[in-house]
Amino acid sequence: MPHALTELKLTEVARAAADPIQEIGTDVCVVGAGIAGLSAAIESARLHRDVVLVDSLPLIGGQMVHSLIGLFCGVFGNAPGYAQLTHGVFDDIFRDLAGELHFQRGHTTTVFYNEVALGRWFERTVREAGIRTILGTVLLRAGLSDGRVEAIDLASRYGDVRVRAAGFVDASGDAALTWQAGLPCWVPERTIYGSQQVIVENVDENHKPEPGEIDAMLAARGEEHGLLRRGGLAFFFPGRGTAVLNVTHIEAPLDPVRASQAQFDGRDQADRAIGLLRSEFPKAFGEARVRAYGFPGRRQTRWIKGRHQLAAGEVRAGTRFTDAVARTAWPIELHDRADGYVWEMFGADHVHYVPLRSMTPPGAHNLVAAGRCVDGDAAALSSVRVMGPCAAMGAAAAHALDLAAGKDGSVHDIDPGRLHQRLAPNLD
Ligand SMILES: Cc1cc2nc3c(=O)[nH]c(=O)nc-3n(C[C@H](O)[C@H](O)[C@H](O)COP(=O)(O)OP(=O)(O)OC[C@H]3O[C@@H](n4cnc5c(N)ncnc54)[C@H](O)[C@@H]3O)c2cc1C
Repeated sequence: MPHALTELKLTEVARAAADPIQEIGTDVCVVGAGIAGLSAAIESARLHRDVVLVDSLPLIGGQMVHSLIGLFCGVFGNAPGYAQLTHGVFDDIFRDLAGELHFQRGHTTTVFYNEVALGRWFERTVREAGIRTILGTVLLRAGLSDGRVEAIDLASRYGDVRVRAAGFVDASGDAALTWQAGLPCWVPERTIYGSQQVIVENVDENHKPEPGEIDAMLAARGEEHGLLRRGGLAFFFPGRGTAVLNVTHIEAPLDPVRASQAQFDGRDQADRAIGLLRSEFPKAFGEARVRAYGFPGRRQTRWIKGRHQLAAGEVRAGTRFTDAVARTAWPIELHDRADGYVWEMFGADHVHYVPLRSMTPPGAHNLVAAGRCVDGDAAALSSVRVMGPCAAMGAAAAHALDLAAGKDGSVHDIDPGRLHQRLAPNLD
């Protein structure tokens, strides 16, 4: 109901000579609110830790929600058993969002999700868990002293914030926290491509191309249409008239100017690919329109140098480490060529593992990485960076910090037996 205009006074304000920095103290500070960081934050809160979750985006969800990935991979084992390999947050999502998911069985089980419903689910879950979020804040500095990260400084449009914490999780995807702490990281010697994901609407799923047809068409005609990637996939969400297109390759530079340019290049590539789909598959895509472009998708950019580098040989052999904390059966999927990618699948009973040592930089006692910035050679990381193992690593980071809590505790001295006991559903 409208009210009569009353006197509304104004207060004059001016910036102080030295900007005050808001200080926040907590048990666990998680940098990065993608699937890995969300899993770490939620698990830490369930362990009764006070948690601060930070992201440079103004929203939580990371690539899972905002790059429009649309499909959980690596959560289940291969056919014919299709065992669920990661539980935790996935059990909750599968229970609460049943109507917003579609399970598809092929060489493994993948799970299509409605990214809007999933994003809201995480927002509710984070709030109910009492996690404090500081969004739209970019990590500027990380103070490392005597082998411990003591505090991080963040910049936001509303002013600067300092977060002091007993333990930190680097779930930034680009190892931003480890990098700012001055600890060694890896970058690949040649580009590992990201993709510009797109959701198109007005598609007719009754005429969707057979598996492999889109890939073959883009391989045959991509070059003449100026496409960098000569192949791709469309994931039709049953009953919605929409499809997620993963049909581009874009560079994922760490340089801010080039990164911004790559974003526009990616949208151009997506538009060209959609034009081609419209003309080549008119029954399925003839009326297709872009509903949303995702934020640029980044696969492997910069990652931590941990105590152990997971090797492709260990992935192929399914090496079970004494400090294993996460597992998956997802293939090696290395996008290190502009026109395509390496795809190496594994057998029926295959499972491979991530050890805690690949998540812990040797130079810090209270820092654990999780998600796509843990230590692996390029091929090994290309398999364990999918969302199933990313969530498992997030949960493991929470437990590692919980077990290492205390003034002089170290994530390098955790009893692997105790850690295993806590993570058993994701390992056995
Ligand atoms: C195009 C593409 C398609 C893919 N397809 C699939 C698929 O079908 N299924 C699947 O399971 N996986 C897929 N993946 C892989 C998977 O999506 C990602 O590896 C995974 O989502 C990574 O999760 P994360 O939590 O480690 O990182 P991210 O989701 O990248 O989250 C990192 C967060 O950290 C924040 N951040 C970064 N730097 C800073 C900073 N300096 N300060 C503050 N915040 C910061 C970012 O804003 C971001 O929100 C795909 C990846 C890409 C790029």
